[in-house]
Amino acid sequence: MTGRCVICGSQGWTYVHEYRGYLCRDHYQRYIEAKVDRCIKRQGLLNGVDKVLIALSGGKDSSVLAVVMKKLYSWRIRLAGLHIDLGIPGYSESARKSVLELSNRIELPIEIVKLQDYGFTIKEAADLYRKGVFNRPPCSVCGTVKRYLINLYAYEKGFEAIATGHNLDDLLLFSSMDIVTGDVTSLSKLLPRQDEGHPKLVPRIRPLCLLTNRETELYTKAAELPVSREKCPYKPPPRRLRSVLSEELDSIEEKVRGFKHMYAASLWSSIIPSLSIGKPVLRECSICGMPSSGRVCSFCRIRESLRNTGYKERFL
Ligand code: SF4
Ligand code: ZN
Ligand code: ZN
Repeated sequence: MTGRCVICGSQGWTYVHEYRGYLCRDHYQRYIEAKVDRCIKRQGLLNGVDKVLIALSGGKDSSVLAVVMKKLYSWRIRLAGLHIDLGIPGYSESARKSVLELSNRIELPIEIVKLQDYGFTIKEAADLYRKGVFNRPPCSVCGTVKRYLINLYAYEKGFEAIATGHNLDDLLLFSSMDIVTGDVTSLSKLLPRQDEGHPKLVPRIRPLCLLTNRETELYTKAAELPVSREKCPYKPPPRRLRSVLSEELDSIEEKVRGFKHMYAASLWSSIIPSLSIGKPVLRECSICGMPSSGRVCSFCRIRESLRNTGYKERFL
């Protein structure tokens, strides 16, 4: 039995701690949108930015991101979506379908870039990894591919920022893992806005950085968003440390309301800014010309290694 919405008095839809009461579907959506707006303004995520590319995976977070950005900012910022078709059986078809449905519904221009057009798919890389003739696990290839292709597209099309759907829980979990394992370089990148300091690397912004997993999940339900629920067949079982940390962060929040926001605020305003990590010296990849710490960038190295396995003729 739910109570009445504390704002309009209509049938309540979900309980919201901040209000110590229920909100209806409509006011719940507005509450979430106001949180995103607050994050964007406080963190200055869109200062000086006129053109934003939204990375769309088909999952819940990037779908919420696209809907909220469109509602709040399309009057002053040019927004477009980009989806990378990774070539993962079942998963990619479902993701593409959700992304297309969403972009139609909210009238967001969208581009789909196919990894296959660069000579391989994640399935092919995964098959070769399983056979032992290629040494990088699928998620490592996938992460590099997504970062590279999204940045390449944004850079070539003149976007000034790439918006990704990382939420508060993602950022706190990554930070906690980095603190435990001592990976300060990775930790230093977990800000709501990440500027890479190279003209060919487009800044990344994370407008959902104040929303929890539960909040984005509830928003997709309140707004009835098309979201792909297909699981990736290459997803490894969660690492024990990761799942324990994730449960502990939730459990502390249950006991101490506001803990996650306190943790995030100290990370972003004190801990990360005080890390003295120099920017890596970047040069241009000798194959594609994009920034790289070595002679050849990681994306081109993956392509070269796959080509050397001799499995396909179609490499350009
Ligand atoms: Fe890519 Fe791994 Fe995620 Fe699958 S689970 S989409 S391979 S990063
Ligand atoms: Zn209401
Ligand atoms: Zn390259």
